Amino acid sequence: MTVLDGKKVSNDIKAEIAAEVEKMKANGEKVPHLAAVLVGNDGASLTYVGSKVRSCKRVGFESTLIQMPNTTSELELLKKIEELNENDDIDGFIVQLPLPKQIDTQKVLMAVHPDKDVDGFHPTNFGKMALDMSTFIPATPFGILELIERYGVETQGKHTVVIGRSHIVGRPMSILMGRKGFPGNSTVTLTHSRTKNITQIISQADIVISALGKPKFLKAEMVKDDAVIIDVGITRVPDETKEKGYYITGDVDYENVKKKASYITPVPGGVGPMTIAMLLKNTLLARERHRSRS
Ligand code: NAP
Repeated sequence: MTVLDGKKVSNDIKAEIAAEVEKMKANGEKVPHLAAVLVGNDGASLTYVGSKVRSCKRVGFESTLIQMPNTTSELELLKKIEELNENDDIDGFIVQLPLPKQIDTQKVLMAVHPDKDVDGFHPTNFGKMALDMSTFIPATPFGILELIERYGVETQGKHTVVIGRSHIVGRPMSILMGRKGFPGNSTVTLTHSRTKNITQIISQADIVISALGKPKFLKAEMVKDDAVIIDVGITRVPDETKEKGYYITGDVDYENVKKKASYITPVPGGVGPMTIAMLLKNTLLARERHRSRS
């Protein structure tokens, strides 16, 4: 059994990006600049945005954090997005989700200019991804592809079962694993809460990508011997014995499933750190595209 070590691979990717930034500086070029918009004060969102900004600093990018109050109106946020679209100094930006109830998330994601959409959530970029065109691939699926590629996990001809059909993880993952090439060439089954006989479907999977957000959903008896297990789930489970008052767990009953798996991602330390590394990679790409346009 091999652990797909997202912490190590993400550090390798960050070192590669930092080396690129050093070259840019040496050539007197502008370094990539990522902006992040955070609306409200949700604890998990603050943590995620904080680590994205810290990672930017670590690789030598410029970063700007824009914090807006929980009471921000949709119009105010759309104006801020327009400013960021027009700001030539900023190569890419993200709007941290979830947004407060008064704001239509779809409208906001549609307002981000596709050239600056380093999260890859705009329909133009999602469509390009589905058509095998060069684009920004959403960071979490992109990170999973990178882990598979760097560990040389075979995907061709394999049956991949994706659990969860969200627009940011499950749905793009199912498209990417079915594309021509490597990683890809898989036969994909996309499952969700209305899937019948899900246990039977999972038991036939060579590769399971679990993104539903239910702690220990995937049990050892559900997976076949030597299956590849990718755990995307991140759930905060309240625990007063911990300093933070909670611990983080994935969708997989890791200790038992790892005994049957050929490859497995831990939580934490698997897909999570890869997501940030790939956001940085998309920002570097945005800078390169920006330079070639101007
Ligand atoms: P989401 O929007 O919360 O959707 C969950 C999906 O799981 C839905 O498609 C839902 O089906 C499906 N589902 C729920 N219960 C199910 C069941 N019993 N059997 C089969 N499918 C079921 O998903 P998300 O935003 O992709 O997040 C999923 C998990 O990944 C969360 O724990 C989240 O924190 C984590 N996450 C991690 C990263 C990372 O960087 N590692 C990034 C993003 C998300 P329906 O569509 O039918 O409701």
